[in-house]
Amino acid sequence: MGMEVTEKTVKLAVNGGINFGSKLNARQLLVLAKYLPDDQELELTTFQQLYIEIPEGRKEEAVAEFEAAGLSCYPVGSFVKSLRTCNFCKGAEEEGMPVAIELNRRIAGKPVPFTLKPAYTGCPVGCGEPLVNDIGIMKVGEGYNLYAGGKSKGQDAAPAGLLFEQLTPEELYQKVDRLIEIYAEHGKKREQMHKFMNRFGKEQLMEALNQTFR
Ligand code: SF4
Repeated sequence: MGMEVTEKTVKLAVNGGINFGSKLNARQLLVLAKYLPDDQELELTTFQQLYIEIPEGRKEEAVAEFEAAGLSCYPVGSFVKSLRTCNFCKGAEEEGMPVAIELNRRIAGKPVPFTLKPAYTGCPVGCGEPLVNDIGIMKVGEGYNLYAGGKSKGQDAAPAGLLFEQLTPEELYQKVDRLIEIYAEHGKKREQMHKFMNRFGKEQLMEALNQTFR
């Protein structure tokens, strides 16, 4: 189409949504290719997302088309990223896939002081690597264990700390919502969850998390 004027672009994070593994089908690849000019590339991130640059004026049209093809679209930057998951190898129900889908629906895209990576895993084998992410959830038996403050990078890499064990799905949603709220309110700009938790203090954090009403 030979558009000479360089139009401003926006970066979108896209994936196939929460399912048995992080997969894309032919239709999804085709619709992505449609929005990819010859001189551009898709960026593959480490967090089960693809980055694609869309001309600003075509953003809404692209999102609608992507979603119609079963792709999920998320903002890029200081937001909660889409929930990374394991492959649910033992079955969707047993491994809590509906809970992961609901959790993702509630938190992905929320603005936070620094990019927040949440990870979910359906059993203690931990293929979704919940303990090296900002927020980690591990289903253990019937309950959900909640971890936070994992740091995967740097020489001071550290596993996440266990905050709650054996939560029900409803309790899990509430605790995660509240944790993100506290972090969004008290975290400094560009302060990672790990650093925030060290500064804020675990005791104070637990106290705030246990308050139902503010
Ligand atoms: S964490 Fe458990 S359920 Fe999930 S893929 Fe690994 S072994 Fe399977």
